[in-house]
Amino acid sequence: MDNRITEEARHFIGEISRFVRDECIPAEDAIEETGTLPEPLVTRMKDLGLFGLRIPASYGGAGMNLLDYCFVLKELSKSHDAIRARMSINNGIGSMAIVNDGSEDQKSRYLPVLAGGAAIAAFALTEPGAGSDASAIATTAVKTGGGWLLNGMKHFITNAPIADIFTVIAVTDKEKRARGGISAFLVEKGAPGLSIGALHNTMGGKGWLQAEVIFEDCFVPDAGLIGAAGSGFKTAMKTLNEGRLSAAASAIGIGERLLSMGVDYAKLRKQFGKPIAEFEAIQWMLADSATELFAADRMLADTAFRFDSGEDIRTQSSMTKLFATESAFRVADRVLQIHGGMGFMRETKVERMFRDIRAYRIFEGTSEIQRYMIARDLLKD
Ligand SMILES: Cc1cc2nc3c(=O)[nH]c(=O)nc-3n(C[C@H](O)[C@H](O)[C@H](O)COP(=O)(O)OP(=O)(O)OC[C@H]3O[C@@H](n4cnc5c(N)ncnc54)[C@H](O)[C@@H]3O)c2cc1C
Repeated sequence: MDNRITEEARHFIGEISRFVRDECIPAEDAIEETGTLPEPLVTRMKDLGLFGLRIPASYGGAGMNLLDYCFVLKELSKSHDAIRARMSINNGIGSMAIVNDGSEDQKSRYLPVLAGGAAIAAFALTEPGAGSDASAIATTAVKTGGGWLLNGMKHFITNAPIADIFTVIAVTDKEKRARGGISAFLVEKGAPGLSIGALHNTMGGKGWLQAEVIFEDCFVPDAGLIGAAGSGFKTAMKTLNEGRLSAAASAIGIGERLLSMGVDYAKLRKQFGKPIAEFEAIQWMLADSATELFAADRMLADTAFRFDSGEDIRTQSSMTKLFATESAFRVADRVLQIHGGMGFMRETKVERMFRDIRAYRIFEGTSEIQRYMIARDLLKD
């Protein structure tokens, strides 16, 4: 384990490892079948303080630095992806706008309930017409007496059907758009004019729900504006910057679990009178997987450490997200191949994990967008 991870976090990672082995993995099949997390498991997650790891201690969280958090998240990601998703949104994209740019009132109103897991968060940026180009969003917020009226539609929003608090990004000045014309708002479940639309039917990620979020003259009081009007694009980008490292951490965790499944199966499965692990073709798949995961792990530790030291990690977080998620996908493909026909069967967890890991190359910025941002930094004057 990276020697920059604090002693306290190392102990906690050990505890999470046991939680994953003894309580999360046994619940996986039920989660996949029902598409929901069992309540006793969610209660355990609350008891472990998992919903508030990144939230400052002064607001009921653990105040973990990003390095420690990423490695806890990596460990938890070795279980069903819905478990990871439920905890990581409250710690990441669902709360970071409040932590970074929220008012004192917003922090004390929302952060303690998010940290304790009593409330579920969602982050609503993406729209049917604006995905990679987030500055093209069409949802508007118009000033009215005592607040703002939001109109528009978001889609692919994780947690939307179960969320209590939404961070919503909307246009407040159509001329300025990303240059001072986009703002961030906090919208509570039940706000007049807020409704949840269709639930998306996804190829993987069972149990972590994506849905449309619709705003029809949805009234948000002035107290719901995060930071100053016009600062919302910066707030959103800051939130995603951190989110990219979380995505990388989870992808590495999933990849490491898959690799250990690949190693076990290669030793167990016999063909031509010997374990397939003795065939060089299998060994190379395992070796390449271990090498890529090791590199991704080091990139993650280095980038998170730099973030905690106050460095600007925009480019490094893109590199880490890109490499970790692409590597983890290759690992999933190789491990499925090592399992032969069995890897294609629903009864193996490999098949599920292969479907789950696919989304990581898309959300929090696609691989193409990460490459674009890395190249833009390289080519700037
Ligand atoms: C499981 C899941 C969960 C999600 N959760 C959330 C959430 O909670 N909140 C939220 O706001 N959003 C969420 N999203 C949305 C996600 O962030 C977007 O899907 C992502 O940013 C890509 O946008 P898009 O789907 O519109 O694809 P598009 O932007 O339409 O991209 C289509 C293709 O074109 C490529 N492309 C686009 N622009 C360029 C370019 N300049 N150069 C090269 N290639 C380009 C893309 O890489 C991609 O391959 C989620 C998505 C998924 C799959």
